[in-house]
Amino acid sequence: MSDILLLSADSGNCAEEKLLDTAFDSIIVGLGAMGSAAAFHLARRGARVLGLEARTAAHDKGSSHGESRIIRQAYFEHPAYVPLVQRAYQLWKDLEAESGQSLMTLTGGLAIGPASGSLITGCLTSARLHHLAHELLDRAEVSRRYPQFVLNSDEVAVYEPTAGYLAPEDCIRQHLRCAAQRGADLRFQEPVLSWEADGEGVRVVTANGAYGASSLVLSAGPWTSELLPALRRTLAVVRRVMFWIRPAAQPSTFDKEAFPIFLWEPQQGPLFYGFPRLHPGGDPKVAIHFGAEAQDEPCTPATIDRTIRPGDEADLRSALATRIPALNGEITRATTCMYTMTPDAHFVIDTHPLYPQVAIAAGFSGHGFKFSSAVGEILSDLALERRTLTDIALFSASRFH
Ligand SMILES: Cc1cc2nc3c(=O)[nH]c(=O)nc-3n(C[C@H](O)[C@H](O)[C@H](O)COP(=O)(O)OP(=O)(O)OC[C@H]3O[C@@H](n4cnc5c(N)ncnc54)[C@H](O)[C@@H]3O)c2cc1C
Repeated sequence: MSDILLLSADSGNCAEEKLLDTAFDSIIVGLGAMGSAAAFHLARRGARVLGLEARTAAHDKGSSHGESRIIRQAYFEHPAYVPLVQRAYQLWKDLEAESGQSLMTLTGGLAIGPASGSLITGCLTSARLHHLAHELLDRAEVSRRYPQFVLNSDEVAVYEPTAGYLAPEDCIRQHLRCAAQRGADLRFQEPVLSWEADGEGVRVVTANGAYGASSLVLSAGPWTSELLPALRRTLAVVRRVMFWIRPAAQPSTFDKEAFPIFLWEPQQGPLFYGFPRLHPGGDPKVAIHFGAEAQDEPCTPATIDRTIRPGDEADLRSALATRIPALNGEITRATTCMYTMTPDAHFVIDTHPLYPQVAIAAGFSGHGFKFSSAVGEILSDLALERRTLTDIALFSASRFH
């Protein structure tokens, strides 16, 4: 039997639980980035939805807090993400229209690194394959347009005009609010203790009792292994630190009108990224994506060290000191967050190998937020129809086995 077949439900003893409502079309476990979007899309399609969240709406103990998330199209990670992110842009605009709230800000984006590095070559491959608007800028041109960035002689930049950032807490709140307006039953501070496939449907147990539905969406972020223990060896939760920094000089040059979102892959040292200041008086945010060993220590949501260590700041300072010197000022705020990594850093979006009525959305590997509007739509397909017309082959749950 392959490992994936061991992906079984916890053996909750549902028979002894108080039986609550069992007539839902779909139950969603976890209402963070992916679950809130799934709730919205299921409700939009007229499904009877129950959303169960262990904590409060848009809380800061998972993977979706911290004021900003990059959205970009020239996807260095794999060109297959481009149609998905283009759908996500459209769905974010739709959500802005339905909610009446601005969620996405396009600042333009710079990907900076050696011309032969994986960031630049990956961005160019996606941009060319999908005919995306972009410019390849040399060091002198970057310096002319954005003197805040100091490139090495061997570095270039790909400029993408449609890149920018999302407001993650607002995105989640608006997905939830619009889902509720369309009739979704959303319950907070009600953790799911266990679930089981029940004939063609599912039963889900919380401290209040057992619920039943025709389908289940598991979108528990870094907690996924608790609900799907067989994924414990596939999903690695790692700690990340976000820093807000008061610019050492010329703060207005870091306003969102003047300073694009950026990713920087140095020849040596970690890949880091950052945002402008989102409003006057705010501070730009910078963080390390990959390559700082101390941040790759495996953890769980229960064991993550949420204190900020001297080494965290040292990594950040060495990234900024010569590259964006005017930004290398006082740290005004810092907070931890979790990536849930898969071995290839691509997502898991699939139906359960044994129970097609169960959809799984996990392992978003530090780059999933921008897609969450589109992932919600896919999850609604999987939950209601057990298939989707969107190409999700890259995200198969069985690819590691
Ligand atoms: C520091 C940092 C920076 C990032 N930057 C970017 C970026 O710039 N761009 C980008 O696209 N992506 C980015 N990402 C990645 C992105 O934010 C995540 O991939 C995404 O938010 C994950 O969403 P999720 O729904 O899987 O998890 P979450 O949003 O954490 O949601 C999981 C939810 O499940 C709930 N839950 C867990 N267990 C249970 C249970 N038993 N019962 C009920 N509820 C439960 C949790 O309370 C939580 O609310 C970043 C991530 C981090 C940490």
